[in-house]
Amino acid sequence: MGYLNGLIRADKATLYKIECELPSMSRPLYECILTGVSPVNSGIVNNEVVRLSHFESVFSLAHQAGKTTAAAAYYWVSELYNRAPFIATRDRFTHDEQLPIQHGCFYQADSYPDDHLFIDAEYLRTQFSPDFLLIHPMNIDDTGHKFGFDSSQYRNAARKADIILSNYIPIWMEQGYQIIVTSDHGMNNDHSHGGILPEECTVPLLTIGSQFSHYSPCNIKQTDICGTVCTLLGVNPIDKPVCHPLLVGGR
Ligand SMILES: [Zn+2]
Repeated sequence: MGYLNGLIRADKATLYKIECELPSMSRPLYECILTGVSPVNSGIVNNEVVRLSHFESVFSLAHQAGKTTAAAAYYWVSELYNRAPFIATRDRFTHDEQLPIQHGCFYQADSYPDDHLFIDAEYLRTQFSPDFLLIHPMNIDDTGHKFGFDSSQYRNAARKADIILSNYIPIWMEQGYQIIVTSDHGMNNDHSHGGILPEECTVPLLTIGSQFSHYSPCNIKQTDICGTVCTLLGVNPIDKPVCHPLLVGGR
């Protein structure tokens, strides 16, 4: 991912290494990233657990604090924080001030093109000025399931995401956004993930923006992301763990 690495070299971004929580699966780790609760404690222990989260999330805490929230994301995110089960004709495009995710574009096909997804996100960002926006593309994971971890297709899917990001990150930086780029989990050579292999569990976390300390090393855990994002937003993270060294002044 040459663009992101170029930002690191230019001291505009800092890269941290995270060991994801277990199981290294999507829905359990969406819940982990967005609530700070690990799968064995949240009860979202596999992808087939279709219900609302039992915990406060970045979305619910920001919403309660009067902030505007948005997501361009896979429909499981809508199921965890807005309504479950997902009804595409009702939920595909969401605009409801009462819901934790007030503005949403939710997709159902794993092959929904990442470049379209980022345009959905830009629509939400420019039309509704969300305080917190989750952008959640699926093509890297989808390609890994089709071709495996050690494949040119998987690597090229990551390169493609880097190119898409290079079109938007300069605009977001210019406008003063605090940006986190991370992943729920990785991929193995059996075209799946879920266990404890390094290639399934090692994920990056990249910070961009003036409110990050850019101090390295920093022992951030996946369960720290929710509370750290709340702190950045000026929202009380209640009982969520916060990685203070990640933020300016360790606040
Ligand atoms: Zn997957």
